[in-house]
Amino acid sequence: MTKWSLFLMAPALLVGAAAVSQVSDLQRWAVHDPARPLPRVVDPGPAGPPAPAPADAVPLFDGNGLSAWTNMKGEPAAWKIENGFMEVVGGKGSIRTKQGFGDCQLHVEWAAPAVVVGEGQGRGNSGVFLMDTYEVQVLDGWQNTTYADGITAAIYGQYPPLVNACRKPGEWQTYDIVFHAPRFDKDGKLLSPARMTVLHNGILVHANAELTGPTAHKARPPYQAHPEKLPISLQDHGNPVRYRNIWVREL
Ligand code: MG
Repeated sequence: MTKWSLFLMAPALLVGAAAVSQVSDLQRWAVHDPARPLPRVVDPGPAGPPAPAPADAVPLFDGNGLSAWTNMKGEPAAWKIENGFMEVVGGKGSIRTKQGFGDCQLHVEWAAPAVVVGEGQGRGNSGVFLMDTYEVQVLDGWQNTTYADGITAAIYGQYPPLVNACRKPGEWQTYDIVFHAPRFDKDGKLLSPARMTVLHNGILVHANAELTGPTAHKARPPYQAHPEKLPISLQDHGNPVRYRNIWVREL
């Protein structure tokens, strides 16, 4: 190996080292470990108007009905629609898009209930699932304490957000998610993991995080091969969380 080839390899080695340190950092913490430090709080500033959808975006919800969505049985989605937003109706179940998506850029706006009920995971809980499988946690994390890998904008059970960028209950918040789907070979063996970059209220909270596998509660199960495209879903966790202005760009 020449000194030039070493020189050329250096950036790749650095990227490799960064990925290793992220994974080894994760392995230090049990799932939902109460000792894991909570992210520091950063005030994101006030909410703005809904972000306009780019010309090539697929609109998923513009306030006018749930025609892009079904419940998990494929029946019409039965969440409440009001004044340009939809609201989780506890017990009606989670909803998913009719269309499947793989690699994508997803914009979601949401608001936790203005009247605070419950605490920890019971307060304003919902979730945005990429491919019906990989959750970015929705939770009212404003002055609310829970395990770090389950706070608002956590990649649930795996990575706390880099910071807690929550607005107050009732205020509109944004997620901008860049998702790269995992790849599997024809035998179902994992070729590359799912990756996510997430901005919460415009603040970076995950930078190309490598997921360990599908989202689960109190577990980090391994990957299971799945199709290249699957629906995006929103979780019914029993709390009346609101959503508006949801769009996605396929990558
Ligand atoms: Mg959730």
